Amino acid sequence: MIRVENLTKYYNSFEALRGIDFNIPTGQVAGLLGLNGAGKTTCLRILTGFIMPTGGDCYIDGINVFDRPRDAKARIGYLPEQPPLYQELTVQDYLQFVARMRGGVEDFEQEFLRVTKLTWLEPARRSLIRHLSLGYRKRVGIAQALIGSPPVLIFDEPISGLDPIQIVEIRNLIRSLAEQYTILISSHNLSEVSKTCDRVLIIHRGQMAGDLSGDEMHANLEDRFLELTAAPVTEVGQ
Ligand code: ATP
Repeated sequence: MIRVENLTKYYNSFEALRGIDFNIPTGQVAGLLGLNGAGKTTCLRILTGFIMPTGGDCYIDGINVFDRPRDAKARIGYLPEQPPLYQELTVQDYLQFVARMRGGVEDFEQEFLRVTKLTWLEPARRSLIRHLSLGYRKRVGIAQALIGSPPVLIFDEPISGLDPIQIVEIRNLIRSLAEQYTILISSHNLSEVSKTCDRVLIIHRGQMAGDLSGDEMHANLEDRFLELTAAPVTEVGQ
């Protein structure tokens, strides 16, 4: 459902991605795990059509993201690390705006009830976004990604900045979405990724360093991650 082939990205002379390959089948929850600066956000921004790669290809549901960007984007619900929320709108007005922008939502009320039920947002329907806690705002960010029912969800650092209770809530939410969607999340939180995901792709210095699932992921993730990321990440200009 999500396929990435030999993805490279230069920022000026800095090589942020160096030949990334992976394939995520339908229905899987995969985690892209890496240290700060490893290339996770760059990879997700390319996959969602926000920036162009220097080389390589990405496919969503068999559709090339760069040849048919509109068709590919229609199949993706994207939660950027900083969700583009309009603070002065209510949850309902914001989600209605997103539905109009995305198009293809015939009955907004029905869609609103569906996504707010999944994200437990019904009580906040008329709340202004600026009055919501960070955890609720993340849920609004996830709800906007669900509008129109795209089959692929891509969440960049969905738990960053959350407190422990909110982290558990978002983990349970992602697990509940796994029944209907193919999901790719990025994180640098080892224990969270192993609890939330079926599989972990480890990215280090812009390259794939590991691909773990099952017992290897649950029992050994910390040791394997430290082993696979022993070399320091090179920052821009170094
Ligand atoms: P973090 O966990 O800290 O968000 P990340 O794994 O998401 O890190 P990226 O944000 O993809 O990493 O960055 C990968 C590398 O590319 C870093 O060294 C970063 O400084 C560099 N980089 C990212 N965006 C740009 C840009 N627009 N211009 C120049 N360099 C950039």
